[in-house]
Amino acid sequence: MNDSMNEVYTSVLTRDPDQPEFHQAVEEVLDSLGPVIERRPEYAPVVKAIVEPERVIQFRVPWYDDNGDLNVNRGFRIQMNGAIGPYKGGLRFHPSVNQSILKFLAFEQVFKNSLTGLPMGGGKGGSDFDPKGKSEAEVRRFCQSFMMELWRHIGADLDVPAGDIGVGGREIGYMFGMYRKLANEFTGVLTGKGMAYGGSLIRPEATGYGTVYFAREMLSTKDKSFDGAKVAISGSGNVAQFAAEKVLDLGGKPVTLSDSSGFIYDPDGIDRQKLAFVMDLKNNKRGRIKEYAIEYGCDYTETQPEPNLNGLWGVEADIALPCATQNEMNGEEAKMLVDNGCIAVAEGANMPCTPEAIECFHHHGLLFAPGKASNAGGVATSGLEMSQNSLRLSWSREEVDRRLEEIMVNIHRNASETAREYGMEGNYVAGANIAGFLKVAESMEAQGLL
Ligand code: NDP
Repeated sequence: MNDSMNEVYTSVLTRDPDQPEFHQAVEEVLDSLGPVIERRPEYAPVVKAIVEPERVIQFRVPWYDDNGDLNVNRGFRIQMNGAIGPYKGGLRFHPSVNQSILKFLAFEQVFKNSLTGLPMGGGKGGSDFDPKGKSEAEVRRFCQSFMMELWRHIGADLDVPAGDIGVGGREIGYMFGMYRKLANEFTGVLTGKGMAYGGSLIRPEATGYGTVYFAREMLSTKDKSFDGAKVAISGSGNVAQFAAEKVLDLGGKPVTLSDSSGFIYDPDGIDRQKLAFVMDLKNNKRGRIKEYAIEYGCDYTETQPEPNLNGLWGVEADIALPCATQNEMNGEEAKMLVDNGCIAVAEGANMPCTPEAIECFHHHGLLFAPGKASNAGGVATSGLEMSQNSLRLSWSREEVDRRLEEIMVNIHRNASETAREYGMEGNYVAGANIAGFLKVAESMEAQGLL
């Protein structure tokens, strides 16, 4: 990191010393920006501003459980940067949620949204509410209470949240219903909505599909493909499920999936029938991945709920797609993948690989796609949902998938060409950070850095 970037980074550390995930995300971006500031010194003040959220909203979320007892959670919305469009980014419901995690996610979102080429600023929000083990009625009461405060801070031209960990179609539906009641209007204020009330086809599939499209582009630069490849995937939620589906479409063989209790290893491959079992298990029955091992008689390994204690990355795989959560793969685990002959890693989750893991991949010449590029298909398709809502029409499945694929191919090209232009060919981390930054920086500067 050069001196001027280091000065900004030190100010971030000093100002918010208790936000390690945010520091990690900022450091990774500032590491890439030195050469940009050398060429464009007028952007130095932009960097000072870009690390500070435009607005941080924190609020109380009281709700009654099925016993009639009051529970109080914390709700947040980070409006990080609105220079290129309305704030856009998901809502996460998970007990680990705090300002550090949401600021890291919102910061990443700024660059990711810029990379999609669509007019979307960056934001993120959520709550430390844990949907696991809650009844349907409890989840509904929580979502309604959450929206009773959030609604005054969002809007179709202001801030358009979507889902993330713990927030899927069910939660979006409950929140949309409450927003509609409070605001007394029907607008595209949330994305990831059900098809019956303004959702977009392919939105549920988009992050997973997009990650695989990006990985396919990356592999093709080395004349490789998914055909016949063994693919290790972590997570078993939205992103993991549809990444696995697209891997199957392209002739690959997914061999692992996980949840916060453990992972399964199925060397015969998770075929379409087995994947349908996982989707039903996770989306309808809300069960644990262990039940897959019981159903299909394969290995199951219990893990600690904290990331980095996985063991999943020790399996033999040609390609790895971490699709669960941040910092789920450390340097040692990355080395295990390298030793087992892995050639490419694409992040479906946000920041799943630690800086040591990324360093290891670069050192050993693996293809590595950072989440802000490879998982941008989700937010890009949310952008397409916003367009369809504004136009009051619905595009076909084929139309949305075609646009998603085109956007992923463009993001790959943009990241790859920018890396080359700045003398770091093959470094998608630098390419994505610089390309994402340039458009936001130009807009911030033009608007007077307010
Ligand atoms: P889901 O809630 O649908 O699934 C998350 C999966 O990861 C579950 O299998 C969950 O297990 C597991 N997981 C969550 N936290 C942990 C943890 N601390 N340790 C181990 N496993 C964990 O979320 P998504 O699939 O939507 O999101 C996954 C990742 O992708 C996140 O990083 C998210 O930010 C990112 N992402 C998502 C997008 C989207 O469109 N949904 C868009 C772009 C990025 P369990 O069921 O036990 O909790």
